[in-house]
Amino acid sequence: MTDLTDLGVAAIRDGVASGEFTATEVATAFNTAVAEAQDALNAFIVTTPDAALAAAAKIDADRAASKPLGKMAGVPIGMKDLFATRGVQTTAASKILEGFKPEYESTVSQKLWDAGAGMLGKLNLDQFAMGSSNETSAFGNVISPWRRPDDTAPLAPGGSSGGSSAAVAARLAPAATGTDTGGSIRQPAAFTGISGIKPTYGRCSRWGVVAFASSLDQAGPMARDVTDCAIMLEAMAGFDPKDATSLDLPVPEWTAALSADLRGKKVGIPREYRLDGMDADVARAWDEGIAWLKEAGAEIVDISLPHTKYALPTYYIIAPAEASSNLARYDGVRYGLRDLPDGAGLQDMYAATRAAGFGPEVKRRILIGTYVLSAGFYDAYYTQAQKVRTLISHDFTNAFTQCDVILAPTAPTAAFALGENSDDPLAMYLNDVFSVPASLAGLPAMSVPAGLDRNGLPLGLQIIGKAFDEQGVLNAGLAIEQRAAFTARPARWW
Ligand code: GLN
Repeated sequence: MTDLTDLGVAAIRDGVASGEFTATEVATAFNTAVAEAQDALNAFIVTTPDAALAAAAKIDADRAASKPLGKMAGVPIGMKDLFATRGVQTTAASKILEGFKPEYESTVSQKLWDAGAGMLGKLNLDQFAMGSSNETSAFGNVISPWRRPDDTAPLAPGGSSGGSSAAVAARLAPAATGTDTGGSIRQPAAFTGISGIKPTYGRCSRWGVVAFASSLDQAGPMARDVTDCAIMLEAMAGFDPKDATSLDLPVPEWTAALSADLRGKKVGIPREYRLDGMDADVARAWDEGIAWLKEAGAEIVDISLPHTKYALPTYYIIAPAEASSNLARYDGVRYGLRDLPDGAGLQDMYAATRAAGFGPEVKRRILIGTYVLSAGFYDAYYTQAQKVRTLISHDFTNAFTQCDVILAPTAPTAAFALGENSDDPLAMYLNDVFSVPASLAGLPAMSVPAGLDRNGLPLGLQIIGKAFDEQGVLNAGLAIEQRAAFTARPARWW
């Protein structure tokens, strides 16, 4: 019998529906895989094997009773610990939320349960989704299942959705939720050889997702392939009156319309993304991707996104500014941790709680954000950044008069080792150079595996699409997937 943990979303759903195996067998197989890997990979903050089994039992009973089964029926998934889950600890990987058990369920997780998915556990992440390596979690690093040859140095699974990427790559879950504010679905997907899509801003409800930078945050699926991403995104997306920025549009049937035939499509190659001193393997993967899309029938056009060089500084003003405001709510009164020194007043409690509860990267962002929003500096930094954000968005609007999708690398390098960038915040921020522009413009963008670098580590290619055109992004992703024929997987050492 096939190892059930080798199956993806579509294969599990179809196998459960046809009676080839039961949802309970699937949940049991993944629960075992999760338990066996937890000490080595630390992908989960809490595991919920009983929740996975309960969801599976319901699907098995529904099937026995010939009830209709949902899009994700019988598929156990990992839930990034940024989504509020009723009665299950939700921490955003911060000590300040340790012990917080929400009384409510996020819209996206509820939709997944309604579609028949079950929860294997809450996945580790960078604290409040701030980071690119999962090293800012208060619950320890996630270790990538990938290693360099003959080298046991632990590698970063990417971030902030590092628990999600590690779990899917290590076959602990067929799919997982991620969130992406400046690249947190795409970069970890690229680092671990899986696929992930950040949809158009507003496609997935932010209700019940712990807020980092509200004008950028978007949820999306991370899975083994493009089809599984499309299926899961259909289950996650949709209008939600509880999120004021939710898009009031029907959810297209992306899976049914998947096509790798790109005849008549134009693919833009942004010249500003070709950085001086670019990693040779990343450049090669990009060139291969261009050739594959040409082979799929697309016409390749040279495009310019002239304000690209301002994207990182703009992002690292706007995201911390919004974070400093969003994180003001963690004050020791309403959620989680409370540090109330003897004889302390309210202000002392706020200060003590926030000093003890937030990690160093979160404090750095709050300080930067508070600074750029402060009276004397607001116009010089925040207002200016908002203006540049508009210019970056216009760059894309102009580019999309010449092409249908854009192809670029996802990240400037393959996975780095843990500790390699963690002492230097700027080096870490530079990792987001290719992912933040699409975030600032609110556009759908996806990473798909493209091949391996000289150390045998995965590289991802990024497809950026027009607003609302997830279909164009998924189709180009599928065209790459079919030609890259990426079958590499980490050798099991855990
Ligand atoms: N790495 C980026 C940051 O640290 C993006 C994080 C994210 O998308 N959540 O802000």
